[in-house]
Amino acid sequence: MPPSASDPEPSASVQAGLAAIRARIAAAEAACGRPAGSVALVAVSKFHSRAAVEAALRAGQRHFGENRVQEAQAKFPALRAAWPELRLHLIGGLQTNKARAAVAIADVIESLDRPALADAIARAAQAEGRLPALLVQVNIGDEAQKSGVGTDEAPRFIADCQARFGDALRGLMCIPPEGRDPVPYFTALARMARVAGLAELSMGMSGDFEAAIGCGASSVRVGSAIFGHRPAGFAPATLAAKAGADE
Ligand SMILES: *Cc1c(COP(=O)(O)O)cnc(C)c1O
Repeated sequence: MPPSASDPEPSASVQAGLAAIRARIAAAEAACGRPAGSVALVAVSKFHSRAAVEAALRAGQRHFGENRVQEAQAKFPALRAAWPELRLHLIGGLQTNKARAAVAIADVIESLDRPALADAIARAAQAEGRLPALLVQVNIGDEAQKSGVGTDEAPRFIADCQARFGDALRGLMCIPPEGRDPVPYFTALARMARVAGLAELSMGMSGDFEAAIGCGASSVRVGSAIFGHRPAGFAPATLAAKAGADE
């Protein structure tokens, strides 16, 4: 059994969870003829304690995903001081009024999904003197409740972001519709990235990362299979919902 969020001794279970996921990633790479180590693991630590993140760091994990800026601010600055190779990915819908804080703290922002947010990130980068790596989030199933740029507008938005952010725009991210075969959605995202000449593809979560690796994922975002279940009501679909009408 994976630990719960309140597990007081996360260390052993986090270590075991990470080892199991690494083995499954290696097997999935081998199964589709991809080189060992070609898929990066982003451990999604949202709603889990700083102690759980530290346990993962001690087990060699370096990339972490959080979906709320405030939670990342509470957990990561102290960790980063102790673990300089730590890399923080912001993976949740981002409000424009959080863009400056996000630019200040993140190494990668995976949820760039609309022109107003691109504007806010560009302004924040000027003000902070740093620009994280960026991924455009595509609403690959065109679901009303999900964040991400719609598939029709995506090619244009991606081109605009490439023109504006240059090499900082690394690739694409998506969350396919729940309860359906994700492969056609992963394939569609991979095609979109190829057309745009983008190398990075963030796709695949606890339930579907092996399928994503088969479709060309360069990184997978795995939470509950490493850290255990999050409190009820915080399913990824809820978390991935639109950031809110802030503009
Ligand atoms: C929570 C979350 C994940 C991880 O989900 P699990 O099913 O726990 O692996 C991945 N991506 C995003 C955008 C998330 O919000």
